[in-house]
Formats: sequence, C-alpha cells, structure tokens
Amino acid sequence: MDFEHSQRTQQLLERLVAFQQREVSPREEPYMRELLSREDPWVVLPAIEELKAIAKQEGLWNLFLPDEQRGAGLSNVEYAPLAERMGRSLITAEACNCNAPDTGNMEVLWHFGSAEQKQRWLEPLLDGRIRSAFCMTEPEVASSDATNMQATAVLDGDEVVLNGSKWWSTGVGHPNCQALIFMGLSTDRRSIPDPGHTAGSPIGQQADRYHQHSMVLVPMETPGVKVERMLHAMGFLDAPGGHGEVSFTDVRLPASAIIGGAGQAFAIAQARLGPGRIHHCMRLVGLAELALEMACRRASERTAFGKPLANLGGNRERIADARIAIDRARLHVLHAAWLVDQKAPEAIGAVSQIKVATPNMTQAVVDMAIQLHGGGGLSNDFPLAGAWTAARALRLADGPDEVHRGVVARLELAHYGKGKWSG
Ligand SMILES: Cc1cc2nc3c(=O)[nH]c(=O)nc-3n(C[C@H](O)[C@H](O)[C@H](O)COP(=O)(O)OP(=O)(O)OC[C@H]3O[C@@H](n4cnc5c(N)ncnc54)[C@H](O)[C@@H]3O)c2cc1C
Repeated sequence: MDFEHSQRTQQLLERLVAFQQREVSPREEPYMRELLSREDPWVVLPAIEELKAIAKQEGLWNLFLPDEQRGAGLSNVEYAPLAERMGRSLITAEACNCNAPDTGNMEVLWHFGSAEQKQRWLEPLLDGRIRSAFCMTEPEVASSDATNMQATAVLDGDEVVLNGSKWWSTGVGHPNCQALIFMGLSTDRRSIPDPGHTAGSPIGQQADRYHQHSMVLVPMETPGVKVERMLHAMGFLDAPGGHGEVSFTDVRLPASAIIGGAGQAFAIAQARLGPGRIHHCMRLVGLAELALEMACRRASERTAFGKPLANLGGNRERIADARIAIDRARLHVLHAAWLVDQKAPEAIGAVSQIKVATPNMTQAVVDMAIQLHGGGGLSNDFPLAGAWTAARALRLADGPDEVHRGVVARLELAHYGKGKWSG
C-alpha cells in the first residue's frame, strides 16, 4: 500500500486549497449567515452558482467520478485527500459538484442507467444544472432492514406504478431537485406467459427477497409525487437541500424509467452505497480536522484562570487524543479505499468498519471542540453544532452503526464456523 499522493491528486489538491482560500472562504460565512436567517431558506443563493462556475473553469468539477471523460477519473485512494479537503467546508463539495446525495445518484446512472436515462438525467446532473434525491427509507417500517420496504413499483402494461411513503429523502427541498430515485417492491400485473412467473406476483416469484425490488427514476413534477413536509435533523433544516417526507400516489411512468431492470434494486443499492459511504467518511475526516483546528485556536487564544484554555485541566490530552483519533481514522479510510480500488473481497468489511469508526470519531472530536468553545460552541456563530449534528446523523444515514457492526462481526465470526477451527 502506498498512500503518497499521486501527481494528479497533488496538483488537484493544490488547486482545491487555493480555490477554497481565494473563493470559498470569503463567501462561506456570509452565505451560512444569510441562509440561517432567511424565512425561506429553500433557495439557491448567488454565491453557490458563482462558486460552481469558478470550480468548473478551474477543473475542480466532478472529482468523485472515476471516469476520465465525464469526471476526474481518480481512484478512491486518489480522491480521498480531495474529499477530505472538501469536508472542511460546508459548501465546497456542492461548489465542485461532489455533494451527496447527487454523487451517489450520478454513479447509479453512470453504472446502470440506459442511454436515454443518461442523456435526460445524468448529463444535467453532471453539469450541475439539476439536483436529485434518493427515496428508500420509509416512516412506517424499520428501514435499516430494506427488505421491510412497503412502497411498491408495480409493472402494469408498458408502465410502472408507484405507491408509498418515503422520508429522510435528502435533497428534495432544493429548488433544482428534479429527479428522484425511488425504490419499491415490484409486482407484475402483466400477463406474460413466463413459466415460473405468475401475473400479479413479486418479480420473478422464485427470486429471493433481494431480487424483488426495483429502482425507478421519477421526474419530480410527475403527478402523484408530493413533498409532504421537510424534516428537522436535531433542529437543523439543512437547507436548501434538506430532508423530506415524500408521498407517491399512483405515480405512473413508462417502464423504461426502471433503472437496470426490475428486481435489481438491491444490487444497485449496494453498488451505490459503497462509494457513497467512503466519500462520507473521507469528508468526515476533513470535518474533524476543521474542528480540531478551531479547538486549538480557541484554546490558544482565550485565557481563563490566568492561563490559555489549552493549559487548563486535561485539555492538552484531549487535543492530543483528537489528533491521534483523526490520523488513525484517515489511515483506516485510506485502507478501505485501497481495498475497494483493488476490488478485494475484504472491502465490504472495511467499508462497514470505517462507516462505524469515522462518524463516531468525528462526533467525539467536534464535541471536544464545542466544549472548548464554551457556550459559543452550541450557537450558530460557529459551525460546530452543525458539524456535530452532521457526524451524529451519519451514524444513521447509509445504515445505522449496529447494522455495520453486524457485518463486521459476521465476517469475523465466519472464520470460526463449524469445521473451520483447526487449532
Ligand atoms: C440526516 C439523514 C439523512 C438521510 N438521508 C437519506 C436519504 O437520502 N435517503 C434515504 O432513503 N434514507 C436516508 N436516511 C435514512 C437512513 O438511511 C435511515 O434512518 C437508516 O437506514 C435507519 O433506518 P430507520 O430510520 O428506519 O431506523 P430503524 O430501522 O427503525 O432502526 C432503528 C434502530 O434500531 C437499531 N437496529 C436496527 N438494526 C439493528 C441491528 N441489526 N442490530 C442492532 N440494532 C439494530 C439501531 O439502533 C437503529 O438505529 C437519512 C437519515 C438521516 C438521519
């Protein structure tokens, strides 16, 4: 394993850092202040479009996409330091068209989309003209087990009909959100004389429970699609993208709106969530770096009881522990990224490991930084309360900690099954 930055990464990183210092930093604080104070925060403020135009011009665009033509063509290991750097800021990822959930949705279309889907949806997404959301989680069922899903995507003649309710659909509040990827249980009302397949039965009745769901591309303005409300995540609206509850009532679309074929949703979801999870972890390392930097500045510049805060109580140890935790997490994330790049079987367990370790690490580091900021740390004068909430949320989003621990434990225990113990 060699984690030295490649030449491409090094060049892009230098440009990205310069872009952040020159263009993003002066705009970021006023942008957040305005957004948080607005009565209607579901808007694209000019700063974002200005930054997108500059990032595009400077070749800092679609860095996440491992496609030489449409993206930067970087491996996961090469992308990691860039994503980390973006994670230090609240708006750089969006400025560079590298923000969730659009990156995951673009990867789905890039890998599995038909030519028509690519032209209609992938191109404008890659160009940053539209935004998207991913609708899997449902209010009525424990969605960490996706086989619980109740929403349906029923094949009817040449059409697919969607019904159900989704929530935590990140991004649906964005004024430019035009495409939703909906996941539902597929049944087939067509009377196709297909041995082993009964009309009105789940797709491929013999199929196991991981091959009965479909992903469908839904234009936001389709009749029957309704954003019922926007949710607060621990008091934050996360505007302008936000997280919404969306109802789908007899939403009819041509069957060609299904991505990758009926019954393929689980396979696609696995492919989508893998890179998405690593990208989140890369950005979280950057967020922890920002929190530690802020903690160190505050602890050095402010005094109490005649000493800098850093020299009081156990604060030096806390700062040291944060540095150790961040550096460990970075290596852990890079190792997982490297395993994914190698297409190694261990990659599955490694991604679950970092999906547990990184948000917990970031949450703890940000918490330490909040404490060193005193009351100010909880206010919106600093980005720390939002950062803590983001880290906390990622212990649920993309699957809760417990589910990922379950994967790690299953893989670990597999070595000790009956007949495998030879010691
Ligand atoms: C900020 C945010 C953004 C999100 N964005 C999206 C999005 O864009 N699209 C989308 O579809 N979803 C999104 N989600 C939803 C997220 O993926 C789900 O909340 C998550 O998968 C858990 O599902 P659930 O909420 O139904 O919890 P449940 O399934 O009800 O689980 C509740 C709890 O039960 C426990 N539990 C569950 N399984 C196990 C287990 N195997 N072992 C031990 N304990 C267990 C855990 O403590 C878990 O937290 C988002 C969530 C948040 C908070």
